[in-house]
Amino acid sequence: MLAGLDPEQRTAVTAPAGPVCILAGAGTGKTRAITHRIAYRTLTGEVSPRHVLAVTFTARAAAEMRARLTALGATGVQARTFHAAALRQVRYFAPRLLDGRQMPELLESKARVVGLAAARAGVRADRTGARDLASEIEWAKSSLVEPGEYPVAAAKALREPPFEPALVAEVFAAYETLKRRQGVIDFEDMLRAAVWGIDEHPDVAEQIRAQYRHFVVDEYQDVNPLQQRLLDAWLGGRDDITVVGDASQTIYSFTGATSSYLIDFPRQRREAVVIRLVRDYRSTPQVVGLANAVIRQARGSEARLRLELVGQRPPGAEPELKIFPDEAAEAAAVARRCRELIATGTPASEIAVLFRINAQSETYEEALAAAEVPYVVRGAERFFERTEIRQAMIALRAAVRSTPGETPLVQAVVDGLAATGWSREQPPSGGAAREQWEALAALVGLAEEYAREPALVPIGDGGRVQRDVSLSAFNDELARRAEQQHAPTVEGVTLASLHSAKGLEWDAVFLVGLADGTLPTTYAKTPDQLEEERRLLYVGVTRARQWLWLSYGQMRSASGRARRPCRFLPQLERHSPTERASDRSRKPDRRRPQVTSCRICGATLLAGADRKLGRCPTCPSDLDEDLHARLLEWRSRTAAGLKVPAYVVFTDA
Ligand code: ATP
Ligand code: MG
Repeated sequence: MLAGLDPEQRTAVTAPAGPVCILAGAGTGKTRAITHRIAYRTLTGEVSPRHVLAVTFTARAAAEMRARLTALGATGVQARTFHAAALRQVRYFAPRLLDGRQMPELLESKARVVGLAAARAGVRADRTGARDLASEIEWAKSSLVEPGEYPVAAAKALREPPFEPALVAEVFAAYETLKRRQGVIDFEDMLRAAVWGIDEHPDVAEQIRAQYRHFVVDEYQDVNPLQQRLLDAWLGGRDDITVVGDASQTIYSFTGATSSYLIDFPRQRREAVVIRLVRDYRSTPQVVGLANAVIRQARGSEARLRLELVGQRPPGAEPELKIFPDEAAEAAAVARRCRELIATGTPASEIAVLFRINAQSETYEEALAAAEVPYVVRGAERFFERTEIRQAMIALRAAVRSTPGETPLVQAVVDGLAATGWSREQPPSGGAAREQWEALAALVGLAEEYAREPALVPIGDGGRVQRDVSLSAFNDELARRAEQQHAPTVEGVTLASLHSAKGLEWDAVFLVGLADGTLPTTYAKTPDQLEEERRLLYVGVTRARQWLWLSYGQMRSASGRARRPCRFLPQLERHSPTERASDRSRKPDRRRPQVTSCRICGATLLAGADRKLGRCPTCPSDLDEDLHARLLEWRSRTAAGLKVPAYVVFTDA
């Protein structure tokens, strides 16, 4: 087991019981080291698998850790997200802690309840406003800030609240009241309940601590104060804990995460074994070189800890920046390249297209679909936001009452979905209906996966209980996944936000939309926010094993302004691929002309979806002559009330 590790990793793996901390850059084998440490300690009999709790931040990372442990022969270890571990604990102890009262249900959509709370507090918030308020409340709760403390805490943390801080505090308080009345809890409440159970109930604390004796935390740079509080409650002053992280990859500070726990760990626990790794086993030296260049300029408290990565893999292609006329051309070129990669032997699942904001996903979904490249959208609010999935979740909750007691879970789900008109046997043959059918089939796939997990789960000191595989437990699992945006996986090119790509790797990675205004987003204004954007780029670059593509579309379709490359990229060779007619995967949408204002003279023009027309007819120098002549002709026809193509409308005419 020690053979596939370098000397520093080996030190981490074989370190005796007690605090261990690995501080190292991306791709240096931190996750590998902790999975080997768990396997090593359990297989040598030093610790029992059932006494280990490994926590990480996404369900996918937890599942991956379980898979890696199983491959190493270490079974029975609990590898969970903070949320899943807390949910399990709260559920298990609920009968004891709630005096027979029913456990509150998990809130499905925070933004909806926040919207209601805003209305109660007299704050007018549209959908975006409600969503921004919800993230502000999430930040406060994750940072252990109560409603009354919010204005001061927000000012101290240099937050940029969507409304006056006092109003946010009011909405926050109203939200808490509303939830209590409705008998629902959110995910932060669940973590708080887990902490409360331990703090206030010595027997619960004793039982938990008897079970969990060895702790491992991956991606520790993204822990927030509430999660740290839970970790401390679990530990109860003990110190057999291994943490690994990279402060340069802190990308969740907007939700309250802070790398200070990681940075301070060696100082807080002076006996800790502290290990630094610099060999990068993931990426080609070219990619490693770019990653170093991106993060070298970073400022912040973690900078002094940073060591340059040293690439270990054979050389590959030099990354270059490709600049396209617009986003549609960029997406079409990405789709075409994906096709080529797949045709030359790269599995689709080894390719990822990563972007800054989820709204970018749609352009790539369309382009990949048009190029007939299979894709999977990760990050998955898309999956759980789909109408048919929402309806299915409602139907499944309703089905709990009507499902006979002994029905196996998968059958219960299939029956429940039948109420929405879905039939497992009859997949429709085209288009949108098929897509909906596949989404529901993925839901059944989730039920199958859920039912397959080990039937007995360890509890307490050596005991085991039957895992709850009822429809109602599965519904809770779905609500949890919806909240965590953890969609089921399907084979295909991964489309993911940079945030959800953390810890993962692919042979080929496309980093798209690398223009100022998208990365960094226009919302990042303070120096701290901009530093977080830089770290996001670093996370993105370091996901690629072999092949890295960087690009952006120069013209934003709506505003028509040419954009500049992402300011965090070092000087790279630039390349403006010429567009071919076949590059366009989408036909121009002639039904929806777009309003464009000329930057130079201010004339307004509705230019259809042929984005080459996005220039002003009164400033002809930018246009080729042919086009100019056509525009002038259309303009005079419009003025004369004659027919012009439906997608050409001069609004100033
Ligand atoms: P991140 O910061 O992105 O989470 P990480 O430090 O956790 O990265 P891993 O995912 O553990 O890195 O490892 C990166 C890749 O390098 C994996 O494919 C892993 O299998 C491989 N790797 C790690 N250590 C070694 C090693 N000693 N020899 C060969 N390959 C290794
Ligand atoms: Mg990792």
